[in-house]
Amino acid sequence: MTNTAPETRKFEAEVAQVLHLVTHSLYSHKEIFLRELISNASDACDKLRFESIANPELLAGDGELHIDVSWDPEARTVTVRDNGVGMSREEVVANIGTIASSGTRRFLEAMSAEQKTDARLIGQFGVGFYSSFVVADRVTVLSRRADQPAGEGVKWESDGKGEYQLAQVELAERGTAVILHLKADEDEFLKSWELRSLIRKYSDHVAFPIRMPKEQDGKPGAEWETVNDASALWAKPRNEISDEDYQSFYKSLGHDFNDALAWTHSRVEGSQSFTTLLYIPEQPPFDLMMGGRDERKGLKLYIKRVFIMDAAEELLPNYLRFVRGVVDADDLPLNVSREILQHNRQLERIRAACIKRVLDLLEKLARDEPEKFATFYKAFGNTLKEGIAEDQANRERIAKLLRFASTKGDGAVQTVSLDDYILRMAVGQDTIWYITADSYTAAVGSPQLEAFKAKGIEVLLMFDRIDEWMLGSLNEYAGKKLKNVAKGELPLDEADKKQQEAASKAAEPVVKKLKELLGDRVSEVRVSARLTDSPSCLALSDYEMAPHLARLLREAGHDVPDNKPTLEINPQHPLLKRVEAEGDAAKAADLANLLLDQAEISAGAQLPDPAAFVQRLNRLIVG
Ligand code: ADP
Ligand code: MG
Repeated sequence: MTNTAPETRKFEAEVAQVLHLVTHSLYSHKEIFLRELISNASDACDKLRFESIANPELLAGDGELHIDVSWDPEARTVTVRDNGVGMSREEVVANIGTIASSGTRRFLEAMSAEQKTDARLIGQFGVGFYSSFVVADRVTVLSRRADQPAGEGVKWESDGKGEYQLAQVELAERGTAVILHLKADEDEFLKSWELRSLIRKYSDHVAFPIRMPKEQDGKPGAEWETVNDASALWAKPRNEISDEDYQSFYKSLGHDFNDALAWTHSRVEGSQSFTTLLYIPEQPPFDLMMGGRDERKGLKLYIKRVFIMDAAEELLPNYLRFVRGVVDADDLPLNVSREILQHNRQLERIRAACIKRVLDLLEKLARDEPEKFATFYKAFGNTLKEGIAEDQANRERIAKLLRFASTKGDGAVQTVSLDDYILRMAVGQDTIWYITADSYTAAVGSPQLEAFKAKGIEVLLMFDRIDEWMLGSLNEYAGKKLKNVAKGELPLDEADKKQQEAASKAAEPVVKKLKELLGDRVSEVRVSARLTDSPSCLALSDYEMAPHLARLLREAGHDVPDNKPTLEINPQHPLLKRVEAEGDAAKAADLANLLLDQAEISAGAQLPDPAAFVQRLNRLIVG
């Protein structure tokens, strides 16, 4: 045995920051320290059980994994002990002396940027262990890794103020004990019933027994009893599980303070048996939109009740990354690795089943509980849209779940489904029309909508950034084409076509004049079938990118081809009459350019020369 002297080390600067934030912001939820410590203890038991598959002697002499919670009214301590995998000295330093998780780092960056401390967010970032310091002014950790001898125990101790002490100690048993020396005013946690009720509230469905000493004269007695349910919730029959059970399991699984919005629990029996319990949260976790893709947590793979790994990526496609839950398979080999999982046929079937369950659940919500569905859609609608491109096999089902604003809808609120739209289609209409823009206001005010409004044809208004990209993969729904009202030539029916031809003929002189005046600012000038009130608008060719999108991409530093726009005009408008009649060449040029400028502005394009635009406008106003 090599004995090293106790040493004092400094926390990483960031740990000190996290500690400060956590202790100051978790105050109203301080009791969650217990949930976090139990969750770590449970993880440690899971890890040991997993390691023992390949290495059964790790469990030697102590095969029943459990978690013990006890209190000492005289020493004023609360202790959470587990006989799980334990930590080596290096692991203690790496896991609780530094910020190992990049999620915590991101949390920290986000927090210091906004100086907003929200307990809900902290819970989701797994700053778990540090929550000890909300109630304790000193924390002692004693740990011995399961594969190490008694002499290789580690003692870690800190007051959470910047430094910790490390020493090598003799520990008879494997696993970890976390001893909280409570702050002066935290006596409530020295009561047996308080600890019990917290365990039942937050940790009832931890799959290992959580034991507490029976109380005797206000003190912990010698006899221990199990205080949680200690069974795998998902393995019970549905009719034995209450909604409360489901919700409390969700909270410990998802580290969420809020209830889940909905869940689906089912068991498949047969040549390949498995159980899925999948939840949809009420609110997006903080990092869902912040590129939190690389470390998606919350979907756990078990094989016959043995936790194998966090496997969200293997079990669900990216566009369903908001789902939390458990998959327990009966027939996968216990020694699976991530690499094996990625090419496993059985897992592919389980994955397809998970997708189906989630889509079934969403369809059910949409049909039976529209308010809940609206909550879901607000939180995750844009994430779901990624599925249109990502999951061809389920494209139609996903499209069915999408909701949009519309010229016949409820303002900017996104409530109109493609099915609603089709039901309301006019006789003879065979196209689902939409427009994209970068805001609701810009969409609903687009001049391209005028002819549709005049004819009473509904147009879907799309203004989320992802829409344009999504539409690239959604050309058709229920046998109907989806088309952008700003694209292509637009005679709506035979009568329109005739009228259009006549109007074009009559307007030949003004079109010719505009072409000359605008020169190479445009690729084409033509009479519009889209306009009734406005003088001009832009029309896009079928494969052209919407101008607002081109602007966004350019702003983000992308190279976007510079297509010359097609200008469409409304020859009935007084402004066009003026262009036609204007004898002064300079004035006519100003008017012509202004027609193009306004069309570009309403399409959300970037004016190539804003100063020239302002000067033109001023010249015309002054006369
Ligand atoms: P998280 O649980 O999200 O990883 P925590 O702050 O709760 O974050 O814990 C940090 C790390 O410390 C854990 O990932 C684990 O490696 C280690 N750890 C904490 N508690 C225990 C324990 N009881 N047994 C073994 N390792 C532990
Ligand atoms: Mg934890």
